[in-house]
Amino acid sequence: MSSIYTTNIFQKFQGEILRIPSCNAVHIQQEGDKSTYLVKQLVMKTNGEKRLKDYRVIWNGSDKVSCICGLFGFNGYLCRHAMVVLFVVGVYEIPSHYILKRWTRDAKIVDICNGVEDSGPEFVVKCFSDLRADSIKLAEEGSISKERYKATKAFLKDALIKVTSMNKVPVTVPKKNSKEANLVT
Ligand SMILES: [Zn+2]
Repeated sequence: MSSIYTTNIFQKFQGEILRIPSCNAVHIQQEGDKSTYLVKQLVMKTNGEKRLKDYRVIWNGSDKVSCICGLFGFNGYLCRHAMVVLFVVGVYEIPSHYILKRWTRDAKIVDICNGVEDSGPEFVVKCFSDLRADSIKLAEEGSISKERYKATKAFLKDALIKVTSMNKVPVTVPKKNSKEANLVT
């Protein structure tokens, strides 16, 4: 999951995974394909006292699991109780509809912009590091063949013009007879 979720969400999700051993699922009811489980979780109070807390989890027999605690509805990732039941019923991969697009690396651009101030050192460092990683990937892919190189170079030239014009910074367009221009045309 670490390769799918963004770092922030993965850390929270990992908190759920780490608490799975404190849960035990007991099958209590079967209606057709629908199975109901009572997940007993060992909860430690602040005074060190331990007690069992019950969570009712329903599995629909194919791809849907729901827990009374409602964590998925609030936070958008599955709770420890639902994951215990998935494991018990033999589902070892989280069904894709429980991996919300907004928490995935595909939505990382939104994550970066939401996590920090809109400007300032932290924002610059995060964005720079993210863009550099993408640029390296692009350079690796773009340097494989002459055709790829030309296409990549042209995209970069256009991107640079677009981005710099957004901040009204004077744009330097490579001269037609320059080395770069010869490579992309
Ligand atoms: Zn739950």
